Amino acid sequence: MTDSTHKEFDFIVIGGGSGGIAAARRAAGLGARTALIESGRIGGTCVNVGCVPKKVMWHAAHLAHTLEDAGDYGFDLDVKPFNWNGLKQRRDAYINRLNGIYDRNLESSAVSRFDGHARLENANIVRIGDQKLTASHILISTGGRPMMGEVPGAEIGITSDGFFELDELPKRVLVIGAGYIATELAGVLKSLGSDVTMLLRKEFLLRSFDCTLRDMVMEEMQADGINILTHFKLSGITQDKSIAVDSEQGTQISGFDCLLWAIGRRPNSDDIGLDKAGVDTDSRGFITIDKYQNTTVDGIYAVGDVTARPALTPVAIAAGRRLADRLFDGQQEAHLDYTNIPSVVFSHPPIGTVGMTEDEAVDVYGHDDLKIYQSRFTNLYYGVTNRKSPSVVKLITQGSDERIVGCHVIGEGADEMIQGFAVAVKMGACKADFDNTVAIHPTAAEELVTLR
Ligand SMILES: Cc1cc2nc3c(=O)[nH]c(=O)nc-3n(C[C@H](O)[C@H](O)[C@H](O)COP(=O)(O)OP(=O)(O)OC[C@H]3O[C@@H](n4cnc5c(N)ncnc54)[C@H](O)[C@@H]3O)c2cc1C
Repeated sequence: MTDSTHKEFDFIVIGGGSGGIAAARRAAGLGARTALIESGRIGGTCVNVGCVPKKVMWHAAHLAHTLEDAGDYGFDLDVKPFNWNGLKQRRDAYINRLNGIYDRNLESSAVSRFDGHARLENANIVRIGDQKLTASHILISTGGRPMMGEVPGAEIGITSDGFFELDELPKRVLVIGAGYIATELAGVLKSLGSDVTMLLRKEFLLRSFDCTLRDMVMEEMQADGINILTHFKLSGITQDKSIAVDSEQGTQISGFDCLLWAIGRRPNSDDIGLDKAGVDTDSRGFITIDKYQNTTVDGIYAVGDVTARPALTPVAIAAGRRLADRLFDGQQEAHLDYTNIPSVVFSHPPIGTVGMTEDEAVDVYGHDDLKIYQSRFTNLYYGVTNRKSPSVVKLITQGSDERIVGCHVIGEGADEMIQGFAVAVKMGACKADFDNTVAIHPTAAEELVTLR
């Protein structure tokens, strides 16, 4: 090892995704000599195989529904078949542009960029091939990767990463999984013209979401023509002319040309030298952290999907920035408050949610201390269309002052609506605050301030 391969920094960031880039740029802006190491494409999951390409596909799916409704709105359109490949090329070009912007942002922030797979050698040394970097502060932001099932023939399937590589729209797709990624991708494929079947191990889609949302999303996806098979215990997958799957109960379904695994993600913590540095993980491999993102080793921190916190881009970014503020700006108490984190599921119709689900609220406060307000309605948009899609808004309030502990929306516009309501919930708003806010008419959002 020569001196030229050994570089010293104040802060080393392993992983150039949402959390890593945010932490690195903030730290460098605060004057820390910062290195960022990325083994793949800059931007990580969100930009390359997550939120961004997913949202492009959701927009396409939304447009497909709009085109369906166009006749009812007086447009006499002659719509040609959907060109998946054309959209993919434009989507890939957009992502390439984003990669370039991320690169330039790192450069202009004076973050030193390294390519390659990084491993900890001890609590202060990181190795990338034959290069050695040292720092007294090291951040692990290596994210996660999609899982595949463990049944014979599992490799026949693709994951969400493979979904974004598809050059053509598959005709008959089997989506295995019940989480938000399974729900979103199944919805996109169906709207764009695939015949979609979903396999659920248990009874519901979106199990961790409020019961009203999960019931309604399932109802709507089935009404849209998605075939949802519940309690299916997969035992094997085979491929001849088409893909077939067998269940432990002895049933077989077949005729698919694409099988998509969407059964969850596992943290990238297994090949980064955690054992050499002495950093602990939980039984599923997520790095153990305290509320300041400290791992079990002094000077080593973790943010984002490699920890067991909500796996969302803004969460990783916020945690990364607060960590940098704490380490390099003397803000000793800076840390992310993980309560009331809003999120959206880009389903059809979309979901927006913040705070506790009804089940969680009952567990914490008991039935008697809660009052729940709910309204189901049809968005005005569907007033003149043959296609209908219902909306629901729901407020879960607690105590005599009816503090809002949960706010849930499903329906047209829910995705853009929830951010503002999340501010109110985070500030501790009560039902009376919502009632005192004059409605905006005619919108779906007004339903949340007119609940009786
Ligand atoms: C299909 C899909 C849709 C999603 N949609 C949304 C959404 O709509 N909204 C939302 O908020 N979130 C969404 N997410 C989740 C979001 O993408 C993640 O929560 C977010 O990217 C996590 O950021 P991170 O920094 O923890 O990890 P990542 O963004 O995954 O970045 C980790 C980086 O570390 C690199 N790396 C790993 N190991 C090493 C190593 N040893 N050395 C060097 N580099 C390494 C990886 O190559 C990767 O680039 C979605 C995810 C998926 C898969």
